[in-house]
This record gives sequence, C-alpha cells and structure tokens, in this order.
Amino acid sequence: CALGLATPTSIMVGTGKAAESGILFKGGEHLEETHKLEAIVLDKTGTITKGKPEVTDFSGDEETLQLLASAEKGSEHPLAEAIVAYATENSIDFMDVDHFSAIPGHGIEATISGKNILVGNRKLMNDHQIDTTGYEEKLINYETDGKTAMLIAIDGEYRGTVAVADTIKETAPEAIKQLKDLGIEVFMLTGDNERTAKAIAKQVGIDQVIAEVLPEEKAAKVKEIQEQGKKVAMVGDGVNDAPALVTADIGIAIGTGTEVAIEAADVTILGGELLLIPKAIKISHATIRNIRQNLFWAFGYNTAGIPVAAIGLLAPWIAGAAMALSSVSVVTNSLRLKRVKL
Ligand code: ADP
Ligand code: MG
Repeated sequence: CALGLATPTSIMVGTGKAAESGILFKGGEHLEETHKLEAIVLDKTGTITKGKPEVTDFSGDEETLQLLASAEKGSEHPLAEAIVAYATENSIDFMDVDHFSAIPGHGIEATISGKNILVGNRKLMNDHQIDTTGYEEKLINYETDGKTAMLIAIDGEYRGTVAVADTIKETAPEAIKQLKDLGIEVFMLTGDNERTAKAIAKQVGIDQVIAEVLPEEKAAKVKEIQEQGKKVAMVGDGVNDAPALVTADIGIAIGTGTEVAIEAADVTILGGELLLIPKAIKISHATIRNIRQNLFWAFGYNTAGIPVAAIGLLAPWIAGAAMALSSVSVVTNSLRLKRVKL
C-alpha cells in the first residue's frame, strides 16, 4: 500500500507546490522528467526580451516611412508593430496595400499604388539582388548595440534603414545565473541577426548563441543538442517556437505568449517570469528526493515486516498497525514537500 502511494503522493504535492508559484505542469511525468534536464534553449524575442520592441532609429524620407509603415501594417510580427506605432506617433497617413506577403525569417514584401516594397534583413535584399554593402557599417553599429536593423527597398532600390530595440526582462540575468548554478547549459535561439543576438546574449550572460535560424529550423536545432546525448528543454512564446517545444524533452511556454506555444508545451510559466524556470527545476529535484525517501520508508516497513511475519513471529495486530503506519509516514513525508524552502 505504502509503495503504491510513494510516487503519486509526492508528484501530487510537487505539482501543487509548482502551481502555487505559477508553474503549470501538464502532467506528473513532466515534473519527473524536469530533474534530468542538462540543457536549456531559450528563444530571444518575447522570451528573454519583453517582446515589445520600439523604433530607435529611422533613416529615409517621409515617403519611405509612409510606404514602410503601410506595408508593415499587414504583418503581425512584433517588429512590424513597433514600426506601425512609430509611424502613428509621427502622424503618418497609412496607404492601402494591394498585395502583402510575409517571408518567414527574412521580412516582408508588399505592393502599394504600383510600387514594390521590401523590408527585411540582408538575406531578403540579397535574394532580390539589392546591394547592401554601402550600408554595412551602419547596420553593424545598430547590431552591436543589440538592435534589429532592417533595410527598406522600393522598386528594387535601397531607400532607408529602420532599427528596432527590445529590452531584456529585468530578471533574465538572474534566472540564467541560477540555471548555470544548477549545472545547466544555456543556449539562445533566434531568427535574428547573429551580432544583435550576441549583444543581447551578453547582457543576460548567455555564451552559446544559435542565430539566424529560420522558423522551420528551430526544432532541428533542438534535435542537434539532443543528439549530443543531452536532455533538453526549450523555452518559447511564439507560433514559430511550437515545433521546437514539441521536439524538446520538456517544452516550456511563456504564459504571455501565443496560445499555440502554450498548447504545444509541457509546462507553462505564468507572466513570463524567467525565474520560474530554475524554480521548476528545483521543485522537480525536491520532488524526486521526496519520492526516494518515501520508497525507502515503504520498503523499510515491508522488508522488515514480511520476513518476520512469514516465520510467524509477528502478531497480526502489529502487522496491521505497521501497514497503516507505513502509509501514514509516506503521506506525511510527501506533505513535508509543501514546506520545503527553494
Ligand atoms: P525571431 O526569432 O526574433 O522571432 P524571425 O524569424 O521572426 O525572428 O525574424 C527574423 C528576421 O527576419 C528579423 O530579425 C527581421 O530582420 C526579419 N523580419 C521578420 N519579420 C519582419 C517584418 N515584419 N518586417 C521586417 N523584417 C522582418
Ligand atoms: Mg519569440
């Protein structure tokens, strides 16, 4: 009886304790699995950063800004929202868009009153044979500051640059330090430019950066780390993180993220508080320790009691009491988990 209670009672108390802190495990097995984690991959935008970028620099004329903002209105990317907000602040009139398409990991393309507009990174410009070498120094300056720089081309000609910055979550450096102290390898995964990614990574104390990853490649990158024999958790917020969340041994969704990510994950942390990630790992460790103690006591009573009973030396009332006591001690020990300081 006590053996049967040993694991489920601890898991129940452990998941309850996690939930009280804002960590929602979808099932007990994920709480067990979490203590084995050796590596964590964090998405950049919306996970490490607040995901509320703002335009910091714009170079170009008013027509460029008008076309840029009108084109971005069709995109739901956080970068686009920042550009639209900036144009609104600058009292720009938005124009009707005849055609719009998002090119994942590259940028957008739109047609507005007969003009072709391209907004995006170097890859997008190179794919359309637009030379960017003359603007390289400017781009590098933005990126070294941790800003995301985008190039604007109209009818195949460079017309300006827009740079957007997103701030890191205040508790991100502390959360990453705690993860490292727990012996966990920390990676940053992003579709953004390598230089921008490294600047942000430096601010939060991450030294392993996987940048310029196309949305459809994120899961493959997680798999590569798993193939080194590591148990990997992926933390993300976006629709494009969902496949990676499923691929990882533990998928952790940011509560403020998209529903798709929450649906794909095994764990959700409320409010996007990154400190809850090391906390989840600590709760998992405490739960496993508690299960081991339970098993020790359950086995103890039985291995001592059964042989004695078998040779006829154990009075039935003592055996009955021992059985009840073993279950009580297991449940009491599980409840102790509630008060463990983390
Ligand atoms: P993240 O991992 O940061 O969410 P994405 O894969 O969504 O990155 O985007 C990668 C890059 O593609 C961006 O850094 C940007 O250069 C470009 N990009 C994506 N969407 C847009 C957009 N709406 N407007 C301009 N550029 C964009
Ligand atoms: Mg994201």
